[in-house]
Amino acid sequence: MTGRILVVDDIEANVRLLQAKLQAEYYDVLTANDGAAALGVAVRERPDLVLLDVMMPGMDGFEVCRRLKEDPETRHIPVVLVTALDGRADRITGLEAGADEFLTKPIDDILLFARVKSLTRLKLVIDELRQREASGRRIGVIAGAAARLGGQGGRVLIVDENQRQAQRIYAELAIEHRPVVESDPEKALLTARGPVDLIIVNTAARGFDGLRFAAQIRSDEATRHLPILGVVDPDDRPRLVKALDIGFNDILTRPIDPQELSARVRSQVRGKRYTDFLRSNLDQSFELAVTDQLTGLHNRRYMTGQLGALVNRAVRGGDPVSALMIDIDHFKKVNDNFGHDVGDEVLREFAVRLASNVRAIDLPCRYGGEEFVVIMPDTRLEDAQRIAERIRRHVAGSPFRLTSDAEPLSVTISVGVASTGADGDNAEALLKRADEALYAAKAAGRNTVIARAA
Ligand code: GH3
Ligand code: MG
Ligand code: MG
Repeated sequence: MTGRILVVDDIEANVRLLQAKLQAEYYDVLTANDGAAALGVAVRERPDLVLLDVMMPGMDGFEVCRRLKEDPETRHIPVVLVTALDGRADRITGLEAGADEFLTKPIDDILLFARVKSLTRLKLVIDELRQREASGRRIGVIAGAAARLGGQGGRVLIVDENQRQAQRIYAELAIEHRPVVESDPEKALLTARGPVDLIIVNTAARGFDGLRFAAQIRSDEATRHLPILGVVDPDDRPRLVKALDIGFNDILTRPIDPQELSARVRSQVRGKRYTDFLRSNLDQSFELAVTDQLTGLHNRRYMTGQLGALVNRAVRGGDPVSALMIDIDHFKKVNDNFGHDVGDEVLREFAVRLASNVRAIDLPCRYGGEEFVVIMPDTRLEDAQRIAERIRRHVAGSPFRLTSDAEPLSVTISVGVASTGADGDNAEALLKRADEALYAAKAAGRNTVIARAA
């Protein structure tokens, strides 16, 4: 996997060096020599990562970072600040500015590629969520709301058997988060399935293998999205590289600096809230987009999309597709005699009977008002007609018992059936034939099924 990386440094030689290293690993490289130019390129080109020098004349790296993180259009792009060696104060300022990661000069190649890889991977996930967000128009609104999400109050699970270290982390985090300590990795796996925003793992624990624990967190469907912060010994480089490879989101080296700890935790918690927020919005808007709110059946929009694809396949030599067009008889009278709420109840009860009388491969949908459509893949006209007849009987056979105190109500339906025909047939024509058959069923006296050949 490669990505597009924006390298920002006021010294041309530094830009060239990083560019060469990254291009050798097949990354696309964009460059800028000052803060203003960097902001322009970031907005225009939407890179997957920004490698940002801190020390630049004019607008420094912190300010560039702050502005990137404030802009809803660029805030999801990971930023790696390149600081002077031992720039502890710089790291704190950088984290406060929203930086995702740091590298110190001179840049260590292993760390460079490990961090670039793990951040571009995360970016890929966020991009996918952003793209799948149904309307796209709402991205701005969502990003704005997400920007207001804080990084405090996080539920942090500390997994460590080193009591003293765990207590120090606990005490520091308890100031603005809700930490819990767990020394047994098996129990920690269970706790992680509950409400948790971040896991901190001691990778140097003697009693258990912290890397294995993290790998288990990553492989469990219920916990794989959780950010993991690893505590490592600074001289244990193989473990550090491995941790980043497994998918640790961030690393703290020992001895733990309390301020750096709290800044890194806050930034992970904020990131978790951001992706949670995107994800829940996505689920919700996806649900809303395909479901009819009254009956819980698929809606017309979803049905039309599915039917188009199925009919195309059928006319290109696939199995035939059938459609039922169903309309409740004299439904207006239900509303007129018992009120609109009873009418709604009838629609819901009908939807239940419909859904329980079609096969698993069929798609029952509310077409609008008191009209319903069932799409039947791989089904010939005769079979569809038989199923329609079964549904009709199941509706007319026993009166609807409604929760309101009204008497049980007799309900009947009329059904038109049609199937895909020869070349040139399409979804619209299929539905039209089903509708014509439905009209004929009404004319024949209602409570009737009529099939119409193509
Ligand atoms: P027919 O046998 O010819 O189908 O007669 P009908 O009365 O069922 O048909 P018509 O199309 O004249 O009336 C349909 C009624 O369905 C009119 C409309 O107010 C009602 N309706 C449409 N959507 C809803 C809904 O969501 N809830 C309720 N309660 N009524 C609805
Ligand atoms: Mg009608
Ligand atoms: Mg009707």
